[in-house]
Order: sequence, then C-alpha cells, then structure tokens
Amino acid sequence: MRQIYFFSEGNKDMRDLLGGKGANLAEMTRLNLPVPHGFTITTEACHSYQQNSHQLSEALKLEIDHALDRLSASTGKKFEDESNPLLISVRSGAAISMPGMMDTILNIGLNDRSVIALAKVTDNERFAYDSYRRLLAMFGNVVYGINEDTFDNVLTETKKAHNYQSDLELTTADLKNIVTRFKEIYQNEANKVFPQDPKEQLLSAVDSVFSSWDNNRARVYRRQNDIPETLGTAVNVQTMVFGNAGEDSGTGVAFTRNPATGEKKLFGEYLLNAQGEDVVSGVRTPESIETLRASMPEIYDQFAKIAEKLETHYRDMQDLEFTIEHGKLYLLQARAGKRTPAAAVKVAVDLVNENLINKETAIKRIKPESISAMLHSEFAHKALERQHILATGLPASPGAASGQVYFTAETAKNAHDEQHQKVVLLRQDTSPEDIEGMVVSEAIVTSRGGMTSHAAVVARGMGSTGVVGAHALQVSYANKTATVDDTVIHEGDWISVDGTSGHLYLGQLDTTEANINDDLSTLLEWAKEISRMGVYTNADTPADFQRALDFDADGIGLTRTEHMFFKPERLLQMRRLILAKDADGRKDPLAKILALQQQDFYEIYKLSAGKSVTVRLLDPPLHEFLPHDDKEIKLVAEEINTTVDALKARIDSLKELNPMLGHRGDRLAVTYPDIYQMQVTAITNAAIKLNQEGYDIKPHIMIPLTNSKTEMKWVRDVVEQTIRKILIDNDATLEYKIGTMMEMPRACVTADKIAEVSDFFSFGTNDLTQLTFGYSRDDVGSFMPEYIAQGILPNDPFQTVDTEGVGELMRMAVDRGRQTNSKLPIGVCGEVGGDPKSIRFFEKIGISYVSCSPFRIPVARIAAAQATL
Ligand code: PEP
Ligand code: MG
Repeated sequence: MRQIYFFSEGNKDMRDLLGGKGANLAEMTRLNLPVPHGFTITTEACHSYQQNSHQLSEALKLEIDHALDRLSASTGKKFEDESNPLLISVRSGAAISMPGMMDTILNIGLNDRSVIALAKVTDNERFAYDSYRRLLAMFGNVVYGINEDTFDNVLTETKKAHNYQSDLELTTADLKNIVTRFKEIYQNEANKVFPQDPKEQLLSAVDSVFSSWDNNRARVYRRQNDIPETLGTAVNVQTMVFGNAGEDSGTGVAFTRNPATGEKKLFGEYLLNAQGEDVVSGVRTPESIETLRASMPEIYDQFAKIAEKLETHYRDMQDLEFTIEHGKLYLLQARAGKRTPAAAVKVAVDLVNENLINKETAIKRIKPESISAMLHSEFAHKALERQHILATGLPASPGAASGQVYFTAETAKNAHDEQHQKVVLLRQDTSPEDIEGMVVSEAIVTSRGGMTSHAAVVARGMGSTGVVGAHALQVSYANKTATVDDTVIHEGDWISVDGTSGHLYLGQLDTTEANINDDLSTLLEWAKEISRMGVYTNADTPADFQRALDFDADGIGLTRTEHMFFKPERLLQMRRLILAKDADGRKDPLAKILALQQQDFYEIYKLSAGKSVTVRLLDPPLHEFLPHDDKEIKLVAEEINTTVDALKARIDSLKELNPMLGHRGDRLAVTYPDIYQMQVTAITNAAIKLNQEGYDIKPHIMIPLTNSKTEMKWVRDVVEQTIRKILIDNDATLEYKIGTMMEMPRACVTADKIAEVSDFFSFGTNDLTQLTFGYSRDDVGSFMPEYIAQGILPNDPFQTVDTEGVGELMRMAVDRGRQTNSKLPIGVCGEVGGDPKSIRFFEKIGISYVSCSPFRIPVARIAAAQATL
C-alpha cells in the first residue's frame, strides 16, 4: 500500500485519501500556483497507525525516508545542510475540515547546528533563533504535551524585563536565551531532551498528528459536527517558507468574499515579519488586507488574481493562507470558507448569477436550520459574553427577546396595554385561557412541557420567542416569583430569553435584527422549483396565514379551529355551549359562534387566492375551555347565570384523568354532533359567499383523531349531510374534500380501509408520537433530556421523527392508503413537518406535503428541495 503522495501527484478529488488540506495543496500545485513543495501521508497510513498499536510502521518510515530524498532533490535543500538547510512543517488534515482541532509543528529540521547554518545562509541570526524558539515551543507542546503557557510565560517575562511592547523587539541575545530556557522546560516539565536529529523530529511529529485524531477536543468537535470517527487524518509535510524573514516578508489569511456578509471583496488580514500563529493567536494586531495593496502592490495584485482563480476553480468562496518570503508569495492552504447564514445565502445566489454553480448546488450548500437564524433576532454575541445562564429549557420557538416577567396572562396584558411594558409571560404551563397574555408577550417561558405542549405550539405559530420545560424554575403563582437555586425573580424583573438555545438570562440584553432579504427570497423560489413536496402552513388566523403567504406557503395544511375560540367573547359562548344541559341549550351559543366562525373562515379563504386551505374540526377536550381558578369560576358563573357550586360540579364532571387520551377529536363529534355541524355550516357558508363574489373556494375539512373506517364514515356522514343541506337550501354547488388526520396507531394499521372514506390523510405526528411511545406530549420534559443524555433516544421524537417506530407506522399508512387510492394526497402537519431531518424521511416515503408554523416555512422549503437532490 502506497502511503505517501507528493503534492504534484494528487488532486482535489482525493480528499478521502489525502484529507482536505492535502487534496487542495495538490490541486493548487496542479494549477501551477506558488505552493512550497511537499508531500502528504495518507489517511490510510493513519488507519494502519491506529491498527498498529499507535506506532509508525517500518514500511511507513522507509517511505518517509524516500520522500525526504525526493523533496531534497526537488528543492535542493537537505536536513542540516550547511549552505541550504531543509526546514519543514508538519500539519494534520482530515477529509472534513476540523479547524484548529488538531496539531501543527513548524520549522522541523532546526537544531543547535542548523540554526547556525540558517543564520549564516539568511544572514539573519535573529530570524534563525526566532524560528528555533517557535519549533521548541510547538514541538514541546504537541509531542510532549507541555502546556503552551509555560513557553509563553518565558516570552512574557522577557518582554516585561526589557519593557518591550511586542515580540519584534526581542533581540538575538534574548532569543538565544529563550531557546536555552525552553530546553530547560523540556527537562523540568517532561524529563525529556529536544531531539537534535531532524528525522527523529519529523517521525515524532507525524506520530503526534496521527494520535491527535483521538485527542479530546477533536473527539468533541466530531461529535458536535457529525464527523465519523473512522475518517482519520492525513499529515502534510511541506517545505517551510518564512514570513518572519524580515520586513519584506509576512503571512496572512484572506477570504475571497466577506464571510460575515457575503460581499464580493477580498477580506482578510496579515502581519509583516511574522509566522502564521502570530496572526491567529492575537499576540499582535494584524493589518487589513487592503493595506497590502499600498505596501506591496505587486504581491497584492498577484494574490488577488490567485484568489479569483481559485474561487472560479472551486466554484466557492475560499479561505486562503499565504506567506510572503523576501517579496515572494506562497500559498499554504485553500479551503471553502466558513460563513454566516446570511453570507451563505448571498454567496450561493451570487455564484449562480455569476454562472459558477447551478441552482441545485446553491440549495445544497445551505444548512436549512441556519435559515432560521436569519428570520429571527438573536442576542448580540457581545451581549452574551460573560452572561450567566440562569436556566435552560427546550428551545421551543427561535428568536431572542427581553422583557419584564409576569406570571399570569392578565397581569402581562395589563402591563403591556396600560404601562406599555415589554413583557415575558412566565408560567408553569399555558392553556387556551392564556392566549391574550401570550399575544402581547415578547417571549413565553414555561417550567413544564415538551416541544408540542400548548406553549410551544402557540409560540411557534405566532413567531414569538419561546422556551418550555425549564425545570430549574420553581414558579410560585401565590408569591409571584420564580426561583432558581438562590436567585428569585419577582414580577416586573427583566429576563432575557433565547428561544434558539433554550437559555434564560437575568436582565435585558441587546439583540441583532432579523435579516430577511432578496437573496433569501430568490433562493426560496429556486427551492420551490426543485422540491417535489409542497410546503404548507399551520395557521389559525388571517395574520398567521398572511405571514406564511409572505414566505410563499403553498396553502394551509392545518387550521386548528379551537385556537379561534381564545378571544374573550368567544370563550364566553364556548363556555355557555359546553355548560348547556342539552342540545336545546346549545342552540343559542352555537348560533353566536357560527356567525363568528363564518367570518373567520371567510377572511382566511379570501386570503387563500386559490391555494388550498385545510380546516380541522374541533379537537381538544371541552374542559380545556373552562375556567380553573376560583376568581374566574366566579366570573363565569355570573356571566352564564349559574351558581359557583353548580359550575364547579359541572367542571368536575368534565375533568379527565388523561385528557389527551380522552373525550376529544371525533369523539366530540359523536357526542356533540351539533358542534361539528356548526363548524361545517360556517365553512360552507363562507365558501358559498366567496364563490358568489367570484372566488374559487374548495374547502378541505379534516377530522381529528380517527381510529377506524366506521368512525370516519360516521363523522363524514354528519359533515356531508350538513354540507348537502346547505347547498340545497342555497341552490348552490361546492367542491369539497373530507379527509382525516392520521394520528392513532390503529388508523395507520387500517389505513387501506380508512382511505375508502377519506379524500386525504394528514399525519398528526404529535399525537402519533405520543401514542406510539406512550409518552404524554405535555409531560415529556421531566425525563426526555435524560433519555437523550444517556443515548437511549437519539433525539426528541416530538422534534425529529422517530423513523424506526413512528416512521414505520407512517410508511405503512402511506402504502396501505395508496393501495386503496393511488392518488391519495398525504401530508404531515405535526411539529416534525418543519424539521429538516424528518423532511428527508418524508420524501423517501412519498409524503405529498408538509405543513409547519409560518416561520418554519423557509427552513422546510430548503429541506424539501434538498431531499430531492
Ligand atoms: C398532531 O397531533 O400532530 C397535530 C398536528 O394535532 P394537534 O397538535 O393539534 O393535536
Ligand atoms: Mg393531534
């Protein structure tokens, strides 16, 4: 097995074998760019090293010997040669870039003798000893594990003793002294001597780079970035060029475009008379690359041309490392530059417009989740420095907001309306009653609940910042406090909520604004062209729908009609309806709600402009609409003209032990058919009215929680009879569809039968996950984090679909449903409908569309396009 390739023998497509850095050095060599000569020891050699008890094999050592001879032949330099000493760098480089995670050693080849030769050859003794002290520090740190600070302290002491401001003031004598002291450090700290034999230096360096693959920092980085452990690293051995050879030398890093904004303009910095580490370490303040144009115009022009050539060649923004040695430019590294989400979008769109990449490639380069950061404000990085995290919950709805804390919807609303305060609603959990407080809040925080709890779903729907299940918070409504360890938050105190990370902070923090721009819109248009699946929105109000339409949603995949009952006048009618003794008593409140609902649907359909709108009939258990605390019970009793005791008794009778498994969904339809009849009447009337006004509305009516064909058929009959009667009464026609949510495991198993009476399916993965796992969706916060930490679950299945279990049920339902009706439209409207990983899976099983909260639409659109590529 060949374990070494010279740069002149490789190319950019050999990343797996040569690592990213090695492949790019080879490619630049192939392009005749000024790259110092060198060779790459392959990742396969790294695998052999790992299998060979972490030792370099004799075969590899022999190959290194040959490679050194070849390098000497091509450069005319040799280790320890008195007139032309060879010095080399040794750097790691895996197939996937892991910046700064592994090790580098520069100036290998220097020893007590060759430092003198180097001084003579370059006629610069200071430079020679400066290079030597750098080798000693890097080698000591990388090979013997001596703390870098130990070496840095000697430099700092010396500068202090002579009152120097910068390293550049160190004299030759100082540097010689430093070299001596560094060698003493080897003795004192590691009981070692610095190896004088350059070959031994090289072999130890290679050994250390291979073993650095397994260091802790590299492991953590790989885990965070999903980089496989099995890749291994290559090692690049390259002839040194010296940026610290004098004032006509220097070193720097530059991006071909601005990595923060994406602007097409060289962006970078450099230092004269310095080696690479000086630029990144912050010891000296580098100059902007712009000033190089003035100080070394020819070098600047040459570099700018190379930068452009490389960008065109790689068809992506490049991050370049360069060195200037005595007025001659060398390229040391080229790689795709890391960039902010906004820059990623701008660069991708610009490159398509410059004909360098196609739209598909542009889409592939965008991380869908990163788009979320462009749609919401964030805390300024500066503001977060030195902030103590008060508590962490689930990141339910992204964004960053500060506000004054209130513990009830009512007090939050008052503070907002009357004192014009920015408020944060902080509760144990939320329920429909809290909606008015939620609407006015900058952020919503709960101490309980999971990603599909009421607070999470509503915050996401409104685009408000939300953190749920922050268990460390002890919320006391009685004391109006929330306590975390010794910290007590009182009503009116400021807190800051980061819905992207789930962190909470005390006080008020600065935020940066959202950044929706034309480039993002362009990219989303392309994504729409490319994707097969539709991207719909979950929206309950015209305002939500409008926001989703602004993001170019294909329609509404789910309107949760219960969310329309949250306004006070409606809640009152709803309560009258629920508390009525019989069907007769329900007539008046039903009529009042009908008028309101009809107006809701009228407004939503009017906005739809031909896009499909799926309205789900009432789902939640009725007692959710009833008052809970004594004060409210008293008020409601007065409103509906009954006694407190009678009302309490009724509330008790409606209470359920496990309401999510209780009297909800089509179970309500069976026991209170008049509620569904009212909703269907409202939908039908609204559609007829609009069609008379010239619109073309075709309602999609969705039944929740269906378990069987018989049940679906029963509810469908109620719905259809209602529609038919209205059509006859109005002498009108209407195209409509009646479909079901798929959210019960039993429904998935019997999907072929249910499809006989359903015009479409839409997966309610929130309930389907709850029922498949047997996890109550509102209570998972108490154990889910531990399950993930212990690796029992790979992630929260309410956020990313569990492909193995829930996903298999979905696949079965899709296959069986389409056995009955090959054209059956099938959507997903649970929370995972907006999750990129889940969307990839939905593409595979043939889902027709996903539906998510308005702000997730851009993320879902990019993910849906990527899923097809
Ligand atoms: C679901 O269960 O996934 C769903 C969309 O319905 P809800 O969250 O309203 O129960
Ligand atoms: Mg549901």
